[in-house]
Amino acid sequence: TEQALGRIVKALSGYYYVRSEGDSPDSQTVQCRARGVFKKRGLTPLVGDEVRFSLTENGEGTVEELLPRSSELIRPPVANIDLAILVFSVTEPVLNLQLLDKFLVHIEHAGIPAVLCLSKQDLETEGGFAEDAASAASSVNRIYRKLGYEVYGTSSRKGAGIQELKERLNGHLAVFAGQSGVGKSSLLNALVPGLTLETNEISNRLGRGKHTTRHVELINVDGGYVADTPGFSQLDFGELGIDDLSYCFIEMRELSPDCKFRGCTHVHEPSCAVLAALEAGEIEQSRYDHYVLFLSEMKEIKRRY
Ligand code: GDP
Ligand code: ZN
Repeated sequence: TEQALGRIVKALSGYYYVRSEGDSPDSQTVQCRARGVFKKRGLTPLVGDEVRFSLTENGEGTVEELLPRSSELIRPPVANIDLAILVFSVTEPVLNLQLLDKFLVHIEHAGIPAVLCLSKQDLETEGGFAEDAASAASSVNRIYRKLGYEVYGTSSRKGAGIQELKERLNGHLAVFAGQSGVGKSSLLNALVPGLTLETNEISNRLGRGKHTTRHVELINVDGGYVADTPGFSQLDFGELGIDDLSYCFIEMRELSPDCKFRGCTHVHEPSCAVLAALEAGEIEQSRYDHYVLFLSEMKEIKRRY
């Protein structure tokens, strides 16, 4: 039988929904069963997987082969994610650089390229907000662009910056990350015509997350895909080794080889390249402070177990 290449965009009750690759935006998704052979080999097809599939007579299909994965995220369970959009609001919730760095640590640890998105840039008329918002945005721009992260500014309400973000997603399989209420669902709705993900107004008041019971699904955005469920929502350091931490701060990753001691923690060791760079003002104090804070949090966790 004829086989085609596709991508699993949804998995539900033993069915995999496969969208053929390279097709027009309105291309069909085919409901597929997976070959039994996957189970025998302990392989579970994941949303995001590229697959080879065949069509059966009744218009359904069979997943014949999984192509190699480039990455595998656990929450949400999606394969081949190659871009994380880390969203922070410049207004409400208040922008918190410590939390931003914590998200970045987890995204860097997963090995997924990250870009920053500063959302809700539309509240300049509401008293008090404007100045704070502008200064939050400018410090993020200053600190993180210098490190090589791209920074996008958006307003889902006004449609600002949406086109730029859309172009950035082209050709990628992306996941949105960021704390609850920063506007991730609203951004997705703005990016995808016709999409109506529930936003936070109601679920916030009920005190439970929007995405707890939903199944992850990939949404086609022009030439790319976006997961409809945010990633990196659990930010404990349980899976991270203490040695991994400085590797997740890209400015430290570059300097570590220049430290005198192998396995330098960059806190008290002599001839530490990171401490020298901090002294010279080449490393942002807030970044370093967060590194030290996370390091002590991690040590505390390891002590308890
Ligand atoms: P999520 O939890 O990150 O998915 O955030 P939501 O998309 O649910 O948005 C949380 C709240 O922020 C809702 O009340 C939205 O109406 C509001 N919001 C989202 N985007 C914007 C924006 O661009 N501007 C403003 N002013 N509010 C926004
Ligand atoms: Zn060092």
